[in-house]
Amino acid sequence: MAAELSKSIRVVVLEKSEQANCSNKFWLTSKEALDANAEFRHCVDSHWNEMDFVAFDRSRFTTRGNYVLWDTKALEQHLIDAIAANGSAVLHGRRFYSYQVEENEIHAFANREKFTSDLLIDCMGFSSPLVSSSNAVSVLGYHHLYGKTMQLQKRIAPVAVDNVIVSGSPSYLEIFPKRDGSANVVLITSAKQAHTSETLKNDFEFIVNESHYADFFSKHENSQPLLGVVPIGVVKRRALDRVLFYGEAGQSHPAGSCTCLNRLLLGYKRAAANVLRCISDGTLGGRDLAETVPRMSRFAERFHQNLFRQFSTLTSHQGTSFIELMHCLDQKSLDDLIFGEIRPSHFVQIDNFRKIIKAKNTMWIRPLLRTMFS
Ligand SMILES: Cc1cc2nc3c(=O)[nH]c(=O)nc-3n(C[C@H](O)[C@H](O)[C@H](O)COP(=O)(O)OP(=O)(O)OC[C@H]3O[C@@H](n4cnc5c(N)ncnc54)[C@H](O)[C@@H]3O)c2cc1C
Repeated sequence: MAAELSKSIRVVVLEKSEQANCSNKFWLTSKEALDANAEFRHCVDSHWNEMDFVAFDRSRFTTRGNYVLWDTKALEQHLIDAIAANGSAVLHGRRFYSYQVEENEIHAFANREKFTSDLLIDCMGFSSPLVSSSNAVSVLGYHHLYGKTMQLQKRIAPVAVDNVIVSGSPSYLEIFPKRDGSANVVLITSAKQAHTSETLKNDFEFIVNESHYADFFSKHENSQPLLGVVPIGVVKRRALDRVLFYGEAGQSHPAGSCTCLNRLLLGYKRAAANVLRCISDGTLGGRDLAETVPRMSRFAERFHQNLFRQFSTLTSHQGTSFIELMHCLDQKSLDDLIFGEIRPSHFVQIDNFRKIIKAKNTMWIRPLLRTMFS
């Protein structure tokens, strides 16, 4: 968003870390997100045609689509360079801590400095003090991710979800192989609280060092850590006067799958054009800004929130039904589910429906009913 805006106006990006901070994450998107941004092609790590979803009893489903794993550092550096080349700035070591709205401007306070602008865009992710202080999101819970980039000893197919350890509140292993022979490996779980539990770290170490997965990974002391928290909530306010919530701060991600970058890459050009129009028209009230960012459909947003509610209470045994459900769906429906494009029409596709009825699968009913009637 900052790189796009900096083509037309001066932008200042404030980052609390001393250096670029995305290397503890990785990003998988659809091929469409790359097609919409061909200028980022050199920032792609790998293209895949499949991903495994595995239940505790080793039943599995393999999706066959077009997936893109981005090179996090390359994409981040490309955007930082673009911002600088356009005459704008990324300032590290600046922690935003408060702000003040005036009639014609907004002041942001970060460390000892004051920055004055037309607009403040909050991209502070799960820890945004602005989102929490303005009650902009009613939080349902958090996805916690903990893992490492690990050297592979042998080839492995991409794993989107594997419930390795049978449990009443399961965690899911994700393995995204990279072209340099390493892999991003994280364990994911959902929780009501924002702090990551020790159990997640211990279970991760057990899985990669002691379980049947241990044969795939070299033991390496200096592996790059991968970790983070993704907030899941119901948005109450998408913007305040002269403040726009964007990215995870604005709940741009589908709650069940957290594929935030996919949505950002597909929507940021339109969002930036809308923001520029608001700036030039001087329409920077909360209501005007709330309409600037392309959103998931209301149905997709609510269905994903209800999927998150369902996943948060699902035991390993109940999780097998989800794998069974995947066997009943066509590839397009699955990709639309993963990337937040799910629509009511997906539920009335005859072929899918026939298979679901035959399998007597009821996994989808609760989230659908909640989406439609609550
Ligand atoms: C391990 C991991 C794997 C993931 N995998 C995927 C994936 O495959 N696909 C996908 O689409 N998404 C994935 N995600 C989700 C990912 O978080 C989002 O895609 C994306 O990074 C969200 O971007 P954002 O800019 O909204 O927030 P963030 O990336 O969280 O960025 C927020 C930034 O704000 C800074 N900040 C916070 N508070 C302040 C402050 N007070 N002052 C100044 N700066 C501040 C932070 O330091 C940080 O740099 C993953 C996340 C993790 C942790």
